[in-house]
Amino acid sequence: MTRLERLGAGLAEPLLVTSGVNVRYLTGLSSSNVALLVEPGGATMLYTDFRYLEKAAAVEGVTIERTMRDVIGALATLLSGRRVGFEPAHVTFAGYERLAGGGIELVPTGGLVEALRSVKEPSEIAAIRRAAAFSDEMYAALAQEKFTGRTERELAWWIEQAFHDVGADGVAFGSIVASGTNGASPHAEPSDLVIAPGTLVTIDAGCRVDGYCSDCTRTFATGELPTELAEAYALCLEGELAGLAAVRPGVSGRDADAVSRVAIDAAGLGERYGHGLGHGVGLEVHEAPTLRPESEDVLEVGNIVTVEPGIYLPGVGGVRIEDLVLVTADGGESLTHFTKELTTVG
Ligand code: ZN
Ligand code: ZN
Repeated sequence: MTRLERLGAGLAEPLLVTSGVNVRYLTGLSSSNVALLVEPGGATMLYTDFRYLEKAAAVEGVTIERTMRDVIGALATLLSGRRVGFEPAHVTFAGYERLAGGGIELVPTGGLVEALRSVKEPSEIAAIRRAAAFSDEMYAALAQEKFTGRTERELAWWIEQAFHDVGADGVAFGSIVASGTNGASPHAEPSDLVIAPGTLVTIDAGCRVDGYCSDCTRTFATGELPTELAEAYALCLEGELAGLAAVRPGVSGRDADAVSRVAIDAAGLGERYGHGLGHGVGLEVHEAPTLRPESEDVLEVGNIVTVEPGIYLPGVGGVRIEDLVLVTADGGESLTHFTKELTTVG
């Protein structure tokens, strides 16, 4: 069955797909102005404007309807009087008002394509494996670089260049380089801060291959560490290894998350690990399923998720260690392999 047929098989009523990433997943078409109407059973109308007609013609299993530039405006007329599901996370309030104003009965029907996307097909796993291998190559080269005396921003640019050099299509997201006290912020922006000796530097980076992302974090030492940071690193690694060991089909995102917290909580640093254990990765760097305390997701074979505990000490520094893991029948297979032993750089 094609992806469209699999989606159609689970539909009770037509679904209007307006998320560009979901359209890409279902049809292979990348467009900034496109929508699909998928009928129960999978018959699909594809709506787009002149600029994408040629690419759309290559999509199999859809009927193409050319619209003017305003696809939502056209749909308000074309679907008037019908009852259709829509993706509530991917329609703006203005778009909703226009569709409803066209006399369409709109039924919120979120997460269906995201659920399909969360279980990867062999070709998707292959793309993410390649992206993860490029991450390994990037980290191996990075570990040979001099960190101290360079700014976080310089290192972030070096990482982007390195991903291009090893053959990736581009970066999956803006690389995080967080040194010294900046490391206490999980999503610090690379700054003009010059990296100092004797501290930790968190590097969270990923690349793209055929549209699919990698996501991997390593934290490096720039020389002898204060005890507090050395202990935080060891604890974070212990939590990460426990999280990795917990990944298997049937485990809930909540339980895997909880396992990663045991050692960190016992050391009294639970409050300093304030985010979830991980997230799914695919066409987007953050997608289903989620691994965090409030997650209701249950892992299944074919999910690809991150395992990434962190410890953030305000005014001191921070550490995060992140691997990308494929859920297999026997557990989890890490797709990222660069060493997690504390690595000291120059
Ligand atoms: Zn990351
Ligand atoms: Zn991540």
